[in-house]
Amino acid sequence: MTDGPGDGEQLVVALDVGGTGMKCALVRPDGSVAHAERHPTDAGRGPDAVVETVLAVAEGLADRARAAGSTPVACGVAVPGVVDEAAGVAVWSANVGFRDVPLRKLVGARLGLPAVLGHDVRVGGIAEARLGAGRDARHVLFVAIGTGIAAAHVVAGSAAVGAHGAAGEIGHILIRPDGPRCGCGRPGCLEAVSSASAVARRYAELADATTQAGPPGVGTAAPPAGAATRPAGTAVSAAEVAGRAAAGEELAGQVWREAVEALADGLATGQALYDVDTMVIGGGLARAGEQLLGPLRAALHERMTFHREPRLVAAALGDEAGCLGAALLALDSLERR
Ligand SMILES: [Zn+2]
Repeated sequence: MTDGPGDGEQLVVALDVGGTGMKCALVRPDGSVAHAERHPTDAGRGPDAVVETVLAVAEGLADRARAAGSTPVACGVAVPGVVDEAAGVAVWSANVGFRDVPLRKLVGARLGLPAVLGHDVRVGGIAEARLGAGRDARHVLFVAIGTGIAAAHVVAGSAAVGAHGAAGEIGHILIRPDGPRCGCGRPGCLEAVSSASAVARRYAELADATTQAGPPGVGTAAPPAGAATRPAGTAVSAAEVAGRAAAGEELAGQVWREAVEALADGLATGQALYDVDTMVIGGGLARAGEQLLGPLRAALHERMTFHREPRLVAAALGDEAGCLGAALLALDSLERR
């Protein structure tokens, strides 16, 4: 809900720069959004062009605030990948193409405002922990399950960054030593089994194998329901796999169960490390709602020994979490000045 910047208000300029799009907003100190807009990232143009778009969009938002009689007081930018928040440098981001981009300095210089740079999932976790599904808890683990899997450990509203800006890479916990190879190069990482892209890939593999070989022990019987409606080689999204599993298709059910079991292993490791009150599950796969959270809760429960079981809830802020979190990070930086 946005109601436009008001006269005399202080506002933060916030941008969440993703591989495909940027979510941008003017945000009040209480976390409410005065104005929101979205722009394509168009990462194929190269990092220099993306940086120029970030700067132009941020400048446009600051101008809009001033035109309404408001005062832009700071700018927060969130980016994916490895982010050195202390230095304000986007160290490495595969899907945006950033390599050692001093984004905080560039934004600060262009806007003439204090600026901060944050990691998209870490600031998303800050937003969920302070404004979203984790707002009643002091210790929160936010886990974003999309193309990859990453987490943010948020205590009292702040997320741990790590010594090298790479804290929270829960997607690269070794979960199935003989499992599929991960994008990071190692076999068996959590995100190679349970990310949305891994679920889609696994389903395609099994469906192709089943179509070619026929179901084991069934000879020339009809192919399974999924195969019948799907030409060989056609991609089926994780959301479709979830839908087919819910409709009772056995193959989709198997893929979904495998993903849930591996996720539960990953979350159990997370709980052993962090001992949180609440785990907030976000990202594309979490749109499956209770179809994911129900079995995940049960599988996590089975894995608890002496650890206290965390509350498992769906994220509340959707894809605005990163943008809101970038704003919160900027506001926090003002308090420290
Ligand atoms: Zn990995």
